[in-house]
Amino acid sequence: MKKHVLSPYFRTIEDKSSGKTMIFHSLFGNPRIINEEGMRFLNLFRQPVILHEALSACDDDAQNVVKEFTEFFFIVEANMDERKILQEKKSQHLQKVCTGKVVDRMGLAISNACNLSCDQCIHFQSTGVSQELLNMNWGTAKRCIDYYISLMRKNESSVCKIHFGNAEPLINWPVIERILLYCAEIKDLTFDFAINTNLMLMTKEIAQILKKHRVSIATSLDGILKANDAIRTTKSGNGTFKQIVGKFDLLDDIGYPLDGFSVTVTDKNYNLVGTDIIDLAAKRGMTSISFDYDLVGIINIPSEMRADKIMLLKRYANERNIDFFGTWDSVFRNLTSESLLLDAYAFCAAVEGRSLEFDVNGEIKVCGHTTTQIGHITQTDKIFERSGGLSDLVKKRFPGNDGYCFGCIIEGPCGGQCQVTREMASRSNSKQQEKLFDDMCDFYRSITEALAIDYMRQNYNKTSGTDLMPERR
Ligand code: SF4
Ligand code: SF4
Repeated sequence: MKKHVLSPYFRTIEDKSSGKTMIFHSLFGNPRIINEEGMRFLNLFRQPVILHEALSACDDDAQNVVKEFTEFFFIVEANMDERKILQEKKSQHLQKVCTGKVVDRMGLAISNACNLSCDQCIHFQSTGVSQELLNMNWGTAKRCIDYYISLMRKNESSVCKIHFGNAEPLINWPVIERILLYCAEIKDLTFDFAINTNLMLMTKEIAQILKKHRVSIATSLDGILKANDAIRTTKSGNGTFKQIVGKFDLLDDIGYPLDGFSVTVTDKNYNLVGTDIIDLAAKRGMTSISFDYDLVGIINIPSEMRADKIMLLKRYANERNIDFFGTWDSVFRNLTSESLLLDAYAFCAAVEGRSLEFDVNGEIKVCGHTTTQIGHITQTDKIFERSGGLSDLVKKRFPGNDGYCFGCIIEGPCGGQCQVTREMASRSNSKQQEKLFDDMCDFYRSITEALAIDYMRQNYNKTSGTDLMPERR
């Protein structure tokens, strides 16, 4: 007679105040929320038991619950190897990656130079590129775009997503403008353009062209005056707050207001960033704030405190109808929106193999800030080879592949965290920086737990019944 037992990957996050518990599988996800009664029932499976014996004392509902929990692998046959399922998912995903069908977006490193000198800049910290490196020329840009368009056509996709990065793209504005005009002539495809800019070089003329081509503008403001100016500075060390807000006004004036901005917090402005930055956004009618702690530098504040700060700001922002998100919610988003039993995912779109980022010299990467090269525009036939760089990176970064993560409560939905943090930590030779990866692990676990508890408090006030999480974000 087969015996069943709680999976070794069965995990719980408990909210003591509501008596609710989020249960999930640390590899496959599928979170559900249960009450104390549900938890007592699951505890019957702490030791291997014969299913019908465990169910004999329960009603019909329990039979349905067990059916679902076995489908989700919360309850498994004793001695089952669930990692084998993940290995199969990985090979299916890799096969798909090697057809080129997973790619849905591209990025162009329009310029590797920057007019500012912010010491928290993920780009310069991670890649270490010197600001003397060239801008992307039109020939390389056209070649990259033509290749991406041909790939999208082959994939029968009519939407092309093109992002202009890397350091400050407006330094190389003529090439951006030429790309916009070139793509406007291609009538059978829709283009979704986006640009990340520090806004300092934004003029009315440029803004009007971006508006005409519906280029979505992402920018940064790292707090109000003191907080921003502590880290976002000109080359001569001056603050930038007033100029940036002046550019917000310029965009308002031409009828192309920003939806929001991103805030980066480092050791230097941690104590200076507060709810006042959300008040500024609310006053301007903005609807989103992306917030992140430095992904490549250690912050000497305990991870729980950093998580608490985010939760406080998130609640404050949400009460003002402002969406508040960042890299920190990637794990919770993966946990609640996907199951690795149904679909493949990794920490972010880049390491899933969905993005091709072309550097100024035609090198291809998966993200504008990583140093791992996966190909070159002069050798496009090699990009999707089974033995190629893209396949290799996606394979390494597929959840369940890194022994370091075995046993982690968020192993599947985290899948080894941001590639850039990993690279930075592995090249680091200072004792302080060596702690970066572990510190970020603690942080991702803390913030995911805090988000799960917040979710339970907001969505489950009932006192009985075994609730299933109804929404997928
Ligand atoms: S990177 Fe860290 S937090 Fe993420 S799964 Fe691995 S051990 Fe867990
Ligand atoms: S690897 Fe992913 S999370 Fe990290 S910087 Fe690149 S896109 Fe962002």
